[in-house]
Amino acid sequence: MDQLKPNPANSCPLTPLTFLQRAAVVYGDCPSVVYNQTTFTWSQTYDRCLRAASAIHTSLGIQSGAVVSVVAPNIPAMYELQFAVPMAGFVLNNINTRLDARTISVILRHSESKAVFFDSHLRSLVLESISLLPPEFQPPPLLILIAAADDDDVDGDINGGRSKSNTSVDDLIADTYEGLVQKGNPDFKWISPKNEWDPMTLNYTSGTTSSPKGVVHSHKSIFIITFDSLINWSVPKQPIYLWTLPMFHSNGWSYTWGMAAVGGTNICLRKVNPRVIYEAINMYKVTHMCGAPVILTMLANHPLARPLKTPVQFMTGGAPPPAAVVLRSESLGFVVSHGYGMTELAGVVVSCAWKSKWDEFPAGERARLKARQGVRTLGLTAADVVDPESGKSVKRDGLTLGEIVVRGGCLMLGYLKNPEATSKCMREDGWLYTGDVGVMHPDGYLEIKDRSKDIIITGGENVSSVEVESVLYSNPAVNEAAVVAQPDDYWGETPCAFLSLKEGVCPKPPEYEMIEFCRARLPHYMVPKTVVFMAELPKTATGKVQKFTLRDIAYKMGPLAATSRM
Ligand code: ADP
Repeated sequence: MDQLKPNPANSCPLTPLTFLQRAAVVYGDCPSVVYNQTTFTWSQTYDRCLRAASAIHTSLGIQSGAVVSVVAPNIPAMYELQFAVPMAGFVLNNINTRLDARTISVILRHSESKAVFFDSHLRSLVLESISLLPPEFQPPPLLILIAAADDDDVDGDINGGRSKSNTSVDDLIADTYEGLVQKGNPDFKWISPKNEWDPMTLNYTSGTTSSPKGVVHSHKSIFIITFDSLINWSVPKQPIYLWTLPMFHSNGWSYTWGMAAVGGTNICLRKVNPRVIYEAINMYKVTHMCGAPVILTMLANHPLARPLKTPVQFMTGGAPPPAAVVLRSESLGFVVSHGYGMTELAGVVVSCAWKSKWDEFPAGERARLKARQGVRTLGLTAADVVDPESGKSVKRDGLTLGEIVVRGGCLMLGYLKNPEATSKCMREDGWLYTGDVGVMHPDGYLEIKDRSKDIIITGGENVSSVEVESVLYSNPAVNEAAVVAQPDDYWGETPCAFLSLKEGVCPKPPEYEMIEFCRARLPHYMVPKTVVFMAELPKTATGKVQKFTLRDIAYKMGPLAATSRM
């Protein structure tokens, strides 16, 4: 068989862009994207993407392979640009719309972005970020305005007074997105990657633990994760998919391209709140949606929460879903699947693969099992929990802590212009070190206990903040819970709980009641010594609780004196 070699017919570079071409054939007259009064079909979406790609390729005067950024919420143009930018031969850089102008400016500079597509409601934010670029950063990126549709449902600039417009940079607006689509060529031969390792996306991590890093993925890794994510969630053909997860967050865990693969209907939403979500679920008969556990919490605890008419598949991840929240949302009719991933892994790569025999377990036990992160998906080659010093697997006892490591074809190429961070994360032993601390259960399912930085070390014992939080979530008055380390003169650190309460909980329970609640359910050393109530917990731009801010508050409250320990 030695003479059998790869040849051009069997070596076409893998890229998810081919999914759109196929969708136009198979699902040409079926709805692709729905937003307010606008509905496109898959043949229209393909046509619009080709036109946009041709105009981006030919009329902007940018060299192929450059970075092109997009700052927009989940609107149709945002969906189309996930295809059009790479189809034009550029690297797609989605930017989180909740970042401030300074951070956006840092990203534009670091990525050397050559063009920025931006939503009209984010105009002042983007213009301010451009005005913050240093004078030596020349020429500044071209700006392309995505004008609001007539029936758009947002008044004014969604950043309110947060950022100021600078009219001198208004002149930099080169064109409008619709203008480009209109002048584009529908017969454009889109630019297929020469090599599947060619970079396709650049996403900046949300920086829960450090300053943002630019994660670069190849066409191949995106192809693999897209396939894998569809199989892992058993997504059927033509689902009705509601966009509650921001597309800017890891390209919506790859379901942007995934919906083209299965001919789904993308229901776009500019704003996400429980009322809008419940209305959309009813109006469009939504079958699938994704979101961080905070979205599940929001939906389950909202006064509008009612049993759903038909079940809705909900993929959650990005943070640990408390078992109590899984339980409550499943009682409403959400069928919760749980996945674990990182921007560096392009999407969900570990998931709580469900076994039918677990269906017979009591609801509480089912929710507890589902809250475990689980096993590797089919597309990942391996996942393990190892001792970070020796690299050896930890005991499968559900108790020994170690670092979660993964390997597989969907992993990033590396961090842009940061070889040091890349080699620290992707080590010579062939694993990517995630920085997440977990345990391996005897049945081979792994469970996250914390991020390395979030572990609380009290009197030499490791306390998993996630474990304490899951107990607090089971208290009927608690809406959100986050536990961080507080300095302690005697123990070094002790757990400090920050809580927000459910709407209508009145009067506020005394702090000691929460401490007693934990004491009845946890070993003594894991019980929070301090409880702080907040109206709402501070979140990162991707909706995760900002533990570093809470750690700061706990730190400023000062070390607990030996006498004040409970
Ligand atoms: P950032 O690291 O800036 O928050 P990411 O969005 O890439 O940006 O977040 C990845 C991290 O989110 C993981 O390293 C992990 O700590 C956390 N995470 C993701 N999914 C889960 C999950 N299912 N359970 C617990 N933590 C999760």
